[in-house]
Amino acid sequence: MTILLSTLNARYTHASLGLRYLLANMGELRDITLLQEFVIGAKTADVVERLLVHRPRIIGFGVYIWNVEETTRVVALLKRVAPEVVIVLGGPEVSYEPQEQRIVQLADYLVTGWGDVTFPQLCRQILNGPKPLMKIHAGAQPPLDEIAMPYGLYSDQDIAHRTLYVEASRGCPFKCEFCLSSLDKTAWPFDLDNFLGELESLHARGARLFKFVDRTFNLNIKSSLRIMQFFLDKLAASPDDPVFAHFEVVPDHLPDALKEAIRKFPPGTLQFEIGIQSFNPEVQSTISRKQNNDKSADNIRWLREHSHAHLHVDLIAGLPGEDIDSFAQGFDRLVALAPHEIQFGILKRLRGTPIIRHTEAFGLVFDPYPPYSILATDRIDFAAMQRLVRFARYWDLVANSGRFANTLPAILGDAPFANFMALSDWLYAHTDATHRIALDKLAALVAQWLGSRGMDGKEAEALVGSDYAGQAHKARPETEKAERKGKADAAPQRQARHLAA
Ligand code: SF4
Repeated sequence: MTILLSTLNARYTHASLGLRYLLANMGELRDITLLQEFVIGAKTADVVERLLVHRPRIIGFGVYIWNVEETTRVVALLKRVAPEVVIVLGGPEVSYEPQEQRIVQLADYLVTGWGDVTFPQLCRQILNGPKPLMKIHAGAQPPLDEIAMPYGLYSDQDIAHRTLYVEASRGCPFKCEFCLSSLDKTAWPFDLDNFLGELESLHARGARLFKFVDRTFNLNIKSSLRIMQFFLDKLAASPDDPVFAHFEVVPDHLPDALKEAIRKFPPGTLQFEIGIQSFNPEVQSTISRKQNNDKSADNIRWLREHSHAHLHVDLIAGLPGEDIDSFAQGFDRLVALAPHEIQFGILKRLRGTPIIRHTEAFGLVFDPYPPYSILATDRIDFAAMQRLVRFARYWDLVANSGRFANTLPAILGDAPFANFMALSDWLYAHTDATHRIALDKLAALVAQWLGSRGMDGKEAEALVGSDYAGQAHKARPETEKAERKGKADAAPQRQARHLAA
């Protein structure tokens, strides 16, 4: 095989949509191109050995925030043991600020931005000459109807065992400064009939779990409705073999026609990821995020009361201008709306995003190593940020896991942020850990903490016991079970998730 396309996915269940796009668009080179995926955590030497088995002339790597460190080691080793192999990089992590990155220094070529057209062109030049003069090639952005769709490249194995990422559009018209999609300035739709044809084929092959990576699914309501109708038709035709669809939506845009369609989805078939990020209007304005907070809250409430959609709502801690109190207010406001999960993320400095323009004014200090998390701001010092990081981790374990559904209201009381922060601080003081806490130990600790807060010991144990016995977990909605079965994005790195394609 002459050309290898490779990446290290965050988990086995993530099938790389980006690599499949490249393969689908290789033209006459497609027959000599092979796709080989790995999962982070694999031994570098093993990855290199498996790549070289194919005796490639060119290896193209997809580089993302979650794999850049390991991919750098893979490329460094390749350059030692097989320097003749031409290394081409692409992906969001290397598309901005490339000069300062070691992986770019090690590689032969880099394609920034979209690779669908430019990567195959570069391969042709490398194979047939003349040798490309430039190391860095800006990816051309062709009209979407000139890009071959990749969905036929999902194997039967992928369909059976992995999350199928699909996209009806690329780009985002909004400008939230922490997000790479803010650089797009607009959204481009794929031809909807062709796209629905691809979904039809995937469904006919047995695909049931579809995760849309469109940045804002509800931008164009006419298209959203047609896509939703596709799924409603499938559900009507085969209620015993249901499909499950996941969409990212902006919260303040839910016209009645869309609500009508949403209302028709039965339990266990629809999930929304909703970015709130911050309820603080000053912070929103600082980071150029346009959001009608009241409308957003009304829509989340409506979804909870009138639909079966499972709701994951994102908040980001550490944004410029946000202090602990204002974050706490936003958190409490969101808890009151009762989404099924609150994805509590810590701000990351994604390469290329304009958020750094606030560095001086707001004292932003980011970790220099991936995923470049915020360490401190002028309003949240390092120690307080560490407490927030632990809060996020324990929130996942206790709240988002659904394992303490009966107990959670007692933990949160009438001051959810403050009370959960107290639990978080207490858990850390008693375990010195945020990972690898066995469930039985966690349950005992939660009961002990409730006791320390004045709840009768036996009552606390009985309450936690009702969860621990599995009652609450069993009561979780079908949607969540389906989603968890094929869950692609358990990690609360919502910003990074925007790069998943
Ligand atoms: S956060 Fe969402 S709405 Fe804002 S720019 Fe990114 S994708 Fe668009």
